[in-house]
Amino acid sequence: MSRTETPRRRPAAPATTAPGRAAPARGAAPARGAAPEQTFHGIAVSPGIAIGPAFGTSEPPAEVTHQKIPAADIEAEGARLEAAIAQSRKQLGKLRTRLSLLPEDSQAEIAPLIDAYLRMLGPSRLVRGARRRIMEGLVAAETAVTEEADAIAAAILTIPGDDGPGRRRRAEEVHEIARRLVRNLTRQPYLSFSALPDGAVLLAEQLRPADVALLDPSRIAGVAASVGGREGHTAVLLRALGLPAVLGAAGIAEAVRPGAVAIIDGAAGTIILDPSEQSLVAARRSVAAFARDRARLGRLRRLSAETLDGQAIELQANLELPRELPLIAQSGAAGIGLLRSEFLFMNREDLPDEDAQADHYRTIVEAMAGDPVTIRVLDWGGEKDIESSGGDDIVRGFAPGFVEANPALGMRGIRLLLRRPDIFETQLAAILRAATAGPVRILLPMVTSLAEVRDAREIYERVVRRLRRRGERLPDPLPPLGIMIETPGAALAADALAFEADFFAIGTNDLAMYALAVDRGAADVAALYDPVHPAVLRLIQFATEAALRTRRPVSVCGEMAADPRFTPLLIGLGLRAFSMNASAIPRVKQAIRGLRADDCARFAHRVMERGDPDEIRAMIDGFARPEP
Ligand code: PEP
Ligand code: MG
Repeated sequence: MSRTETPRRRPAAPATTAPGRAAPARGAAPARGAAPEQTFHGIAVSPGIAIGPAFGTSEPPAEVTHQKIPAADIEAEGARLEAAIAQSRKQLGKLRTRLSLLPEDSQAEIAPLIDAYLRMLGPSRLVRGARRRIMEGLVAAETAVTEEADAIAAAILTIPGDDGPGRRRRAEEVHEIARRLVRNLTRQPYLSFSALPDGAVLLAEQLRPADVALLDPSRIAGVAASVGGREGHTAVLLRALGLPAVLGAAGIAEAVRPGAVAIIDGAAGTIILDPSEQSLVAARRSVAAFARDRARLGRLRRLSAETLDGQAIELQANLELPRELPLIAQSGAAGIGLLRSEFLFMNREDLPDEDAQADHYRTIVEAMAGDPVTIRVLDWGGEKDIESSGGDDIVRGFAPGFVEANPALGMRGIRLLLRRPDIFETQLAAILRAATAGPVRILLPMVTSLAEVRDAREIYERVVRRLRRRGERLPDPLPPLGIMIETPGAALAADALAFEADFFAIGTNDLAMYALAVDRGAADVAALYDPVHPAVLRLIQFATEAALRTRRPVSVCGEMAADPRFTPLLIGLGLRAFSMNASAIPRVKQAIRGLRADDCARFAHRVMERGDPDEIRAMIDGFARPEP
């Protein structure tokens, strides 16, 4: 996307306004320079205005400084090094055993690399050298490892001969194992935001979902990144946290001058760096208008979600991080329609055990005080690209830097769980235990075939029997087992799947991605991503009709449910349950309260006769526009 420059009239006033939320920007003062105002354009991802000092983000490991230790600490420092070596060996050993999940050619490529790393953690020059540096150089373990690795890599690079690429690769391997040791010594998260001042506007090259999970929305005012699309998981999480955000704004990461004032407009999709006084005044006005709008919509909380002709619509919230619970409580949601459990597996080096998971789920179920909670089992993989703090994929056991050939079509969701029944069973057991605290449903992600649902149900029943043998108290009746309809395969087989699945949740994000072959998280093809393309609408219609015919409950939990422009069409297709990010609920409720279900049905009928997405979009805009 593009960038424009406008001459600046006066230096920016200090930033004091946070994005449509109460917390004022505090901390580092914005730089007052003579830089001209620059506007960057990207994809509007999460509404709200953020004004604050801009900061970038850096990848760990953080700089390791030359840190001296007293002679009395030699033994303790040596022990730290040995512990980090043991931990690194353990991590790599796990990776080695899980390689069988990969296709054979990938195994053949990765196994020797892991073996090389393991050798470097044995009686290698790196380990011997690091130990010696601690004892003789009196330096901290991190310093010893980093400096020894630098020395070895430099020596490798100066070996005479013509195998330049080979030498560079070996030198990088030494650095990579040193980075692993340092990460284990310092226990750093993958990306660290703790150093950002309160009220900061974060401008990054790229943010992964696991990175967003580390953001504290009470401290960060807004976010922009050079890459990313509207429906990717990074965007989903940013909306969930209510952080004003723009993604796909090319060049923004390079342009950041730490501390300079930035304005993010998450509805317009713009970022202004070094704003003029005029732009600042306008942005502050928008902050106030946004707050007034929120307050007005907040008053809808206690009103029912019912059409003018008396059709009750169920509005539930999606939850991706437990810190959304207060937002969900304020939204008037009638339960959680999609709990994305991936948060439990992000930014950690080991798998969460049954007790830890049960505690998390129970806390959420109890917080919903009798309203239903639909817990989706782990949807790992694809563009979620979830990495632990060690930089490894803890579920699949892939090493840092591993790239699945075609992740969206690869080992994702239910496919992976059926390959890792240990993880699946642990999660099911935890959910069952939490389900004694309130009504719960279990949801399977990325289903494409009947066999997957049957296999999953068999595992579910096995877990139930095991828990009964263990004397565990279980809910009666047991939680229903439903499926996401988020692949064209599942949508078109919905009539058959309805016999195996207890309910359907239509995931329009992936459904549109797979139907249109457009990466939901990519900026360059974002314009092609269209949930009202007739192909997507026909899949939704087919799956909905299959559910209604077989009396299976059906809801929409993709981002389409959160857009009030699409509400009439979805109601017209027969849908009566929607789940969305909590902050979208009031606006969708407002739309519902102005609609008649029979008008919606006639409207949907007309739309489904059309084959041109532009025409459909025009019809949707026309229907949403109130009569003059
Ligand atoms: C979807 O695909 O629409 C969905 C709700 O799942 P997720 O966004 O977590 O992939
Ligand atoms: Mg999905």
